[in-house]
Amino acid sequence: MRVYKENINIGQTPMGNELSILKYTIDSGNPGKTIYIQSGTHGGEVTQWILHELFSYLQNNLKRGKLILVPNANPVSWLQRNYFSTNGKFDMYMGKDWNRNFPGDEQGSLGERIASVLFEQARHADFVLDLHTSRWSLPFAIYFNKEMKKYTEVFGLEYNQFIDTTIKTSYKNTVNVSLFAVGVPSLCIECGGHDAYEPENIELVKNGILRILKFFGLIDNAPIATAAEQQIFYDKTITYTASKGGLIRLAKKLGEYVQKGDVLYYYYDNNDLGNIQNIIAKHNGVVFKISPTHIYWTGDEVVQLIEQ
Ligand SMILES: [Zn+2]
Repeated sequence: MRVYKENINIGQTPMGNELSILKYTIDSGNPGKTIYIQSGTHGGEVTQWILHELFSYLQNNLKRGKLILVPNANPVSWLQRNYFSTNGKFDMYMGKDWNRNFPGDEQGSLGERIASVLFEQARHADFVLDLHTSRWSLPFAIYFNKEMKKYTEVFGLEYNQFIDTTIKTSYKNTVNVSLFAVGVPSLCIECGGHDAYEPENIELVKNGILRILKFFGLIDNAPIATAAEQQIFYDKTITYTASKGGLIRLAKKLGEYVQKGDVLYYYYDNNDLGNIQNIIAKHNGVVFKISPTHIYWTGDEVVQLIEQ
């Protein structure tokens, strides 16, 4: 096995510092499929724990083909730091989600140039994984086309969200949808919460990646944890939003089952001290995504359930 590291230039800062993306090619030396994995398109989405573990695992276990790893797909988004928060979801120059620039444009904005460099790496692979995190959430796979569902079954997470891009057209310029347009299969994996170290989630996602590598023949024989016993596929989630500004504290935990009539969260009214209201669930479902804050403006998303 050989490891090649390459820095791909994407431009310069105003001070003239080079901006580059580090790409690893882990080559088994034997013919086989090429899998491409990127993470860190959005600054602050800490998924690289998984790639550290994966990299160590592959030292002895990569048998065929190649794995291309881009751990920090967007160095610019990671520079958007404010005190201890890395606010890398949106390009602060363009106001745009960094994952809406694909397939990119090498003469375009910095975001489009970054996308163009990444897309050029990804489009030659046999399969692509794009790793993200989502607020405070359980790990889940996202697939944008029914044909990709079979890969979520291989990946084997419990929760699997289908986003129909003919309805939700805003996903059109994500890396996954752009890859599908050129015939490259892929999944988006939300690996858990933002800026978090969650050992169970790291293990779940790492094992999902290994099942994909096994499926494509890159590793063999090595024992890998089995997929989730029960997989849940959903295309609709229920979002609760704050009806007034204030402080909110959740009554339920991630992964907890909620029944209609249960207290879902507590609302603290700062114009009326001592007034703490119980907000009641109107649906049966599982808590799968929570906003990573207690501070709410009117209309902010508080919690999402998968209806059951
Ligand atoms: Zn993301």
